Amino acid sequence: MTYQADITIIGAGIIGLAIASQVTREGRRVYVLERNEAFGQEQSSRNSEVIHAGIYYERDSLKTRMCLEGNGLLYELCERNGIAYNKCGKIIVATNDVEVEELEKLYRKGRDNGVPLKMLSRREMSQLEPNMRGIAAFFSPTTGVIDSYALMRYFHGKATNNGAQIAYKTEVTGIEKASEGYKVMVEDASGGFSFMTRVVINCAGLFSEKVAEMVGIDIDEANYKLHWCKGEYYSVSGGRNKLINRLIYPVPMAISVGVHVCLDVNWRLRLGPLFYYVDEISYKVDDSQRRLFLESSMMKALPFMEPADLEPETSGIMAMLQGEGESFRDFVIRHEHDRGLPGFINLVGIETPGLTSSPAIARYVGHLVNEIL
Ligand SMILES: Cc1cc2nc3c(=O)[nH]c(=O)nc-3n(C[C@H](O)[C@H](O)[C@H](O)COP(=O)(O)OP(=O)(O)OC[C@H]3O[C@@H](n4cnc5c(N)ncnc54)[C@H](O)[C@@H]3O)c2cc1C
Repeated sequence: MTYQADITIIGAGIIGLAIASQVTREGRRVYVLERNEAFGQEQSSRNSEVIHAGIYYERDSLKTRMCLEGNGLLYELCERNGIAYNKCGKIIVATNDVEVEELEKLYRKGRDNGVPLKMLSRREMSQLEPNMRGIAAFFSPTTGVIDSYALMRYFHGKATNNGAQIAYKTEVTGIEKASEGYKVMVEDASGGFSFMTRVVINCAGLFSEKVAEMVGIDIDEANYKLHWCKGEYYSVSGGRNKLINRLIYPVPMAISVGVHVCLDVNWRLRLGPLFYYVDEISYKVDDSQRRLFLESSMMKALPFMEPADLEPETSGIMAMLQGEGESFRDFVIRHEHDRGLPGFINLVGIETPGLTSSPAIARYVGHLVNEIL
């Protein structure tokens, strides 16, 4: 068999780039295929840029493992490579009795996961955040924010310096299993072509179930059906960012961690994301969610925010395995050899905390690749 590639990575979001930076080395021909004209145009540039601590997910899940490991790796990476970050910490605050019960459960869950957390007294709450209102809260010192574009640029630079080729405006349209390896069908500006590769790594984000289907996986049977969940952000004007010292989150009560304070590395303040399931990809944000923003626990916790400070801003869409009303689903990161697909690695449902987990996921997939090649 003549292969033109050793490893083909589909998708140049943060996950595809991180994996490319991990698996590329002398003697390996690594290609990253991306249908957009630049890297990170989908989930990876439309998120809260939070380095999560690992509080929310099931203890033995990949989400918790990858998040805890990724958290430490990201701070080290940022330090060593001049990537902007702020380990500002976050407070999770309860504003009523029902939330207090949930807050205590969440605190225990986070502690069980091995996350350093500190329950705050009322006095400590007002010392840390004098403008915040709440009846109970805990502090997560290892949560922070990162310049996600700079992180992607770093992974991109490391991968290409080591010899990876990244092809933009190049869409994978079909994959066929060959006697050994895979034939990958592609469309680009010059038309269509195909090539042979030994390993395929599916990092296609919102479309990763489609890529899994291309190679013949029954996504219903495999339980890979994705649900798109749109999160909208509102910008907050009026210099309100000066009244907050760190990230502030509500107690999660629904599909997500809840509308929270988002600060970027330049201390730009947004509220969001407010999540709801959608059937199509549209990043349009109008004012239709305003009422839900105004009624969110965050507005109760931060009474200095005026409705007039809030303006609809951006949105992102997340690739979730968990459908509406369903319970926790873990990341799928899987070498599909037992489905008769040796050398095919799927990453499906890499939603939050995917950004935080990216360097840990890259290591994990790096081990899988080393077992194959
Ligand atoms: C609103 C929101 C908030 C979030 N907040 C956080 C947060 O604060 N912290 C955190 O850790 N995580 C967060 N996340 C999650 C994080 O953004 C994702 O886990 C991460 O970006 C996933 O990266 P990815 O590379 O898998 O996907 P993507 O960035 O979506 O990249 C997939 C790529 O595959 C390409 N592709 C798809 N199909 C094909 C094909 N057939 N051929 C070629 N290319 C293809 C796409 O064009 C795309 O560029 C958030 C996500 C959202 C949406």
